[in-house]
Formats: sequence, C-alpha cells, structure tokens
Amino acid sequence: MKKFKPVLPVFRKNKIKVFNMALKTGQFIFQIGELDSLRKRSLDIPITKITSKEYRQKFEYIKNCLKKYRKITGVGRGITAVQIGIPERFSVVYQPAIKADKSSSYTPEQYFIIINPKIKKFSRKKLIYPEMCMSANPIIAPTIRPAWIEFSYYNDLGNLKYWTTKDESDLGRILNRVFQHEIDHMNGIINIDKVKSSDLILESDPKYYTTAKFKEV
Ligand SMILES: [Zn+2]
Repeated sequence: MKKFKPVLPVFRKNKIKVFNMALKTGQFIFQIGELDSLRKRSLDIPITKITSKEYRQKFEYIKNCLKKYRKITGVGRGITAVQIGIPERFSVVYQPAIKADKSSSYTPEQYFIIINPKIKKFSRKKLIYPEMCMSANPIIAPTIRPAWIEFSYYNDLGNLKYWTTKDESDLGRILNRVFQHEIDHMNGIINIDKVKSSDLILESDPKYYTTAKFKEV
C-alpha cells in the first residue's frame, strides 16, 4: 500500500514573513473593509490651508508612515491620506536616489507630497504590472494602467506643479504607475477593483516582485 503524503505549499517560510509584515503594517494602515472612507471620494484641501500647522503635521505624519512601512517591509512607494484615516486628497510618494550615468548629478531619495491632483492626460499605451496595495496586503494585483499620465497638483509649500515625465525606464514607469494608484485611492478605487478576482495572487513566492516585468497590453 502506498503511504499518503500531504502536499504542502512551497513557500511556507516566506509566507510567515509576508504575513508578519502585514500584521505590523496593518497597525497603522487601514485595510479594505475597515474604513468606509476607503471606498469614497476624499475631500479637496483648501489651498490656503496647505501651509498651516495642521497640514504640516498631517504631511509629516504621512511621510513618517511611509518611512515606517519601508523600514518594516523594505518596499512601498506611496500612501494616500485616506489609508491612514484622513479622507483628504493628498499622498506621499517615495522616489529612490537617482545616480546619473556621467557622474554629473545625483538626486538623493525623496518623499514628496502631492495635493489635490488633477489628471490632464493619459497615454494610449497601456502596461500590465503586478501591484500591491498597503490596504489589501498581501494581495498582488496584476493591474493594467496607462504607461504615463500628466497631472497638476500642489506641493506641500502650496506651489502649483505639473507632472509630465514620459520616462520609459523602470523607475519612470513605476512612478507614473504609483501616482495613478494613489490618485485612484482619492476617488475610493483600489487596484483589486480593476483586476478579475481569478487573476489575484496572495504573495508567497519571494522572487515574485524581483522578477516582475512591465508588459504592454
Ligand atoms: Zn494602495
């Protein structure tokens, strides 16, 4: 008689790590189903209030949340205010340090705030890429989005800015994608809403993200 051997998932150790991280970040990031505002349009910030003490403190708090998230997980590109319980239209986005090829310029890592963004243009070209959302951790959603967008926004000094970077490097593509992901949050939309449920993945393979590639659709 053949002896029965149970079949177990392959990446068991990594799953413990992934779920432990989700447990820690879930202490300050609201998860789907925990907060009604996550599914609603967040409110515009009055421009005259951007430089007030109240908002300075809110911007500081959201930056610290992203730093904390990155410290726990080693990843994470952006947080929108509603995810930390503030249903207002602002986000923080992380940009890693950029080393120029000819050793001429170097941009250190940055955490920048975007306020009341308004999308002005979308590219016709669309890309699919596996995204995760801090509010639906640890689901991976292979999400289709325009390759780039153009949008206006205010920075945390109250200055009107315009994002238009059609950079086709991986970093350029990721930033264009992160902005779309965060602006969706301001409208109550989460990446998993854009993906068929049968295409969703629960993170377990430790190589999944490091081997992820953009594909044109
Ligand atoms: Zn998200």
